[in-house]
Amino acid sequence: MIPIAMPVLAEEEADAARAAVLSGWVSQGPQVAAFEREFAAFVGAPFACAVSNCTTALQLALTALDIGPGDEVITASHSFIATANSIRNQGAVPVFVDVDPETYNIDPGRLADAMTPRTRAIIAVHQMGMPCDLEALTMLADRHGIPLIEDAACAAGSEILIKENWERIGRPHGRIACFSFHPRKVITTGEGGMLTTADAGLDRKFKLLRQHGMSVPDTVRHGSAQVIFEEYLVSGYNYRMTDMQAAIGRKQLERLPDLVARRRAVAARYTELLGNLEGLRLPAEPEWARSNWQSYCVRLANRFDQRSVMQSLLDKGIATRRGIMCSHREPPYAKAEQRHDLRHSELAQDRSILLPIYAQMSETEQLRVAECLRAELARG
Ligand SMILES: *Cc1c(COP(=O)(O)O)cnc(C)c1O
Repeated sequence: MIPIAMPVLAEEEADAARAAVLSGWVSQGPQVAAFEREFAAFVGAPFACAVSNCTTALQLALTALDIGPGDEVITASHSFIATANSIRNQGAVPVFVDVDPETYNIDPGRLADAMTPRTRAIIAVHQMGMPCDLEALTMLADRHGIPLIEDAACAAGSEILIKENWERIGRPHGRIACFSFHPRKVITTGEGGMLTTADAGLDRKFKLLRQHGMSVPDTVRHGSAQVIFEEYLVSGYNYRMTDMQAAIGRKQLERLPDLVARRRAVAARYTELLGNLEGLRLPAEPEWARSNWQSYCVRLANRFDQRSVMQSLLDKGIATRRGIMCSHREPPYAKAEQRHDLRHSELAQDRSILLPIYAQMSETEQLRVAECLRAELARG
């Protein structure tokens, strides 16, 4: 069986988790602080704040920016539903804008139409690890005086060309970037998330809000020779990452450059193997973007049936997934009026297939996927 994805977890991660357990400090502590420092340094961000997952990261971002009931947030429907849920969970309204059919990312050209006096933020998704057009998006956000939040759930290790420099996603280019460490992403802590920002005030808010609004972190109180009485300055949440997760995350982060390099090689090989297949469109990077290839998404011509192609591959032991979902087609968002023409989003979901991709994928496995797909498409 060739799976759709497979995390790279080995003795290093197991040892790190074991050491965290035996240290006696298992909730948010020194490992979390170290993971934050290392992640910030890796992406080139002044600040990073670790949290329980990317959904809570997005919610913290919105909370810290005071976005709530009555506010509208422009985003893509063509994303994992967590993006829309994070907005809805704040009492705000997601306003869905269509994607660019080439990159599957929000189309900056369609944003102006979706702006209203109630628009308070944009959440742009670096879908499947492919950077979105941050230059256009930051310009638009600045022009309208609203913050840009990057849903970088899938984009750890992806890069974008900004003024002739390759910079990592998370630097951050918008006000805040939010990452996920779910096992389907390129690095994992089981569950986990991270916010990066260049704004010290926002970072302070994240760190307050993620642990109940508590004025003094437990690590400080624990290490103090003086008695400290903490205060609870705002009504916060418990969105903490554990030290076991952070210890694993630090090892994953060490692997990240190599994981991305290997995924790029796998993607390049797919492009080589499938390049001349009639009726199949392959993903392509704009010249200003370098994906981490969290997913490899191919588009079928209209004459093929998505489900039966996927079923035939599954029958041959190859797992695939259909294109990224559209939130507006799911019951919680089906009645939303805040929606623009989403034709390309729907086509992307209905005509695309995600092929297996993981860092340790062998050439033999890739050949098998390519051959099965070729045979299937030849059947018509
Ligand atoms: C995975 C994902 C999320 C949610 O991440 P969790 O860590 O599982 O909460 C949000 N947005 C996008 C685009 C994702 O792919």
